[in-house]
Amino acid sequence: MRRWIACVFLLGGCASPVLPRLMRQGDAYELHQLGSRSYAFIVRSGKTDEIGSNSGFIVSGRGVVVIDTQISKEAEEMMLREIRAITSLPVTHVIDTHWHDDHVLGNGAHGMDVRILAHRDSLERMKEEASATRLPDVPVTEDTSLFDGEDRVDILAIGRAHSVGDVAVYDPVDRVMFFGDAYVRGYVGYLGEAFLREWIAGLDRALRYDIRVAVPGHGRLGGVEFAREYREYLRDFLVTAREHFRAGGAPETYVLPEKYKRYGARFFLKDNVQRAFELWKAGGLDSTD
Ligand SMILES: [Zn+2]
Ligand SMILES: [Zn+2]
Repeated sequence: MRRWIACVFLLGGCASPVLPRLMRQGDAYELHQLGSRSYAFIVRSGKTDEIGSNSGFIVSGRGVVVIDTQISKEAEEMMLREIRAITSLPVTHVIDTHWHDDHVLGNGAHGMDVRILAHRDSLERMKEEASATRLPDVPVTEDTSLFDGEDRVDILAIGRAHSVGDVAVYDPVDRVMFFGDAYVRGYVGYLGEAFLREWIAGLDRALRYDIRVAVPGHGRLGGVEFAREYREYLRDFLVTAREHFRAGGAPETYVLPEKYKRYGARFFLKDNVQRAFELWKAGGLDSTD
């Protein structure tokens, strides 16, 4: 009896497997099953050069929706092989969460029968940079959905946040949010192009969804609490940078709060603080917060 109670209360029932679970480990990536139809393709530690960023896919009843396409066509092919091993359904859509190379350079691995969506402003940046192996063909400017009924996949048009045009993808069946780089776990993140106020507001909107698994653009999978922690980090960075500049401090003398010392990728800090300084000068850090 006690064991049965433990099953029900700790595992959500013994009949279904505990998810997410690690399905397979490649040399450079891990494939995790997140629910009945959502999967995450996670970069293994130290393999960022080969894969680039975390991505994933949703096997809906009417086709597979891919979220981000790695750093190269070769890396995207690795994920496509995993998709083919899971389902015979074709990939119908790719969603680029934003324009940065480590998330979109595998676009060219998809045939022209696959629709590629991205925020309109990220699409414009991809045209300017001319680095895309294939440009998106469907610009997104507002929240929208692919398919309907039990096949539905939601797209959140976050807009200015980590980049000039971010989108996040939500699976309402498995309650999974694919954040792109609007949320990274355990890193200071690249804030050199950030719109901090809008980013925090965008995350607040995304965090109102019922989220069981939060897939970060970089870093380990986890529950929604880790995405909330990143939102607090962004707010703390905004507030402490603003106070520092208000008091006459230079970007070079800003020090990140002690509690974030454990965050990695600190080589981004210089760019991040410089960006905060530019935003502050333009009034872009003002808020009542
Ligand atoms: Zn990025
Ligand atoms: Zn990234």
